[in-house]
Amino acid sequence: MSQTLIIGAGITGAALAYQLYRRGQTATIVSTHAEGGLASAASFGWLNASYFLSRPHYHLRYQGLAAHRRLTAQLSGLPTTWPGCVWYEATGDAQAETAADLRALGYTVEALTKAQIAAKLPALGPVPETALHFPEEGVADPATLARALIAASGAKVIRATVQSLTSDHGKVIGALTDLGPLIADRVILATGTGTPALLQPLGLALPMLTRPGLMLTTNALPPICPVVLATPDQEVRQDAMGHLHAPASAGHQGDHAESLGSFPVVINATLQRLRGLFPGQEIHFGRQAMALRPVPGDGLPVVGQGPVPGLWLAVMHSGATLAPVVAEHLVDEIIGGVESPLLAEFRPTRFQ
Ligand SMILES: Cc1cc2nc3c(=O)[nH]c(=O)nc-3n(C[C@H](O)[C@H](O)[C@H](O)COP(=O)(O)OP(=O)(O)OC[C@H]3O[C@@H](n4cnc5c(N)ncnc54)[C@H](O)[C@@H]3O)c2cc1C
Repeated sequence: MSQTLIIGAGITGAALAYQLYRRGQTATIVSTHAEGGLASAASFGWLNASYFLSRPHYHLRYQGLAAHRRLTAQLSGLPTTWPGCVWYEATGDAQAETAADLRALGYTVEALTKAQIAAKLPALGPVPETALHFPEEGVADPATLARALIAASGAKVIRATVQSLTSDHGKVIGALTDLGPLIADRVILATGTGTPALLQPLGLALPMLTRPGLMLTTNALPPICPVVLATPDQEVRQDAMGHLHAPASAGHQGDHAESLGSFPVVINATLQRLRGLFPGQEIHFGRQAMALRPVPGDGLPVVGQGPVPGLWLAVMHSGATLAPVVAEHLVDEIIGGVESPLLAEFRPTRFQ
């Protein structure tokens, strides 16, 4: 049986290990951070296809929702939920245009009146005139999901940092870590923002955008937000324990900021916006998490065979949504040797 070394224990590495296990293969995972990864541990975890950059990106994201549903059918007790999203990040004509674009792609979009929004979200203070409802959208905690997938896969996890990839006669045959060498038949990089440093010695410059993200979690509150709520200046969801989870930037999936500013200022501003959305609630700071989002230079995933034989790449933003479907198709490619049309637009070669 082939030995696969996956570098990275976030949602991407975990989903890959699980898909290898489903096809009768075992993997070793080596990771600086514990199971649950880095960006995965700071994610908002909104599963959606309503945000997309191109038609192929939409289709991949839409298949991402289906892949999450397959995971929940295969493994009991996963924390993935499907509350849907109430969206009014755009208003007026722009909102109608978003609805028309998404419907043309086959997405389920319901137009909500003010009364319907108020009925869905009785605790919402300022109720907009209209909003869109995306009932197919969900929420996952990528770190928790990653831990569950790694456990189910039976993969061996080594906590170590890979210093370089090792090769022989032009083929990648393993990795040199701070604990010593690891040998494998193939290596998959699920290393998020750590990827360029490992590719650079092989002559592949993978451009990555600097996109820091800050997530705020509040104290536990009574049930006030039963959906993913996306307003023009704040996205928020509530977990089963009552905590609100809120990215500190508006429209966080397409956020272009390269720096975050002063944490106390940004966190206070986010708390103020949440208090404005849900007046009368005692909303306080709970904890924060910060990570760089792994965003390749054109914003799209980088998936497929690397620049040298034996090496495969799976690097992406929106990995909470995308990792399960990317893992299904990439593992099919690795084992079956047939390229997946779904991944065709996202090949590493576009940067060579
Ligand atoms: C604030 C924020 C909000 C987000 N919100 C959403 C959202 O709502 N919806 C959505 O779909 N996506 C969202 N994302 C994006 C999503 O979380 C990421 O795309 C996804 O978590 C990436 O997972 P990953 O496993 O590829 O990377 P990571 O979770 O970053 O894991 C990378 C792994 O590689 C390891 N690693 C790296 N270099 C090395 C090395 N040299 N040696 C050993 N190990 C190494 C790290 O230790 C880590 O385990 C958000 C991200 C952030 C930060």
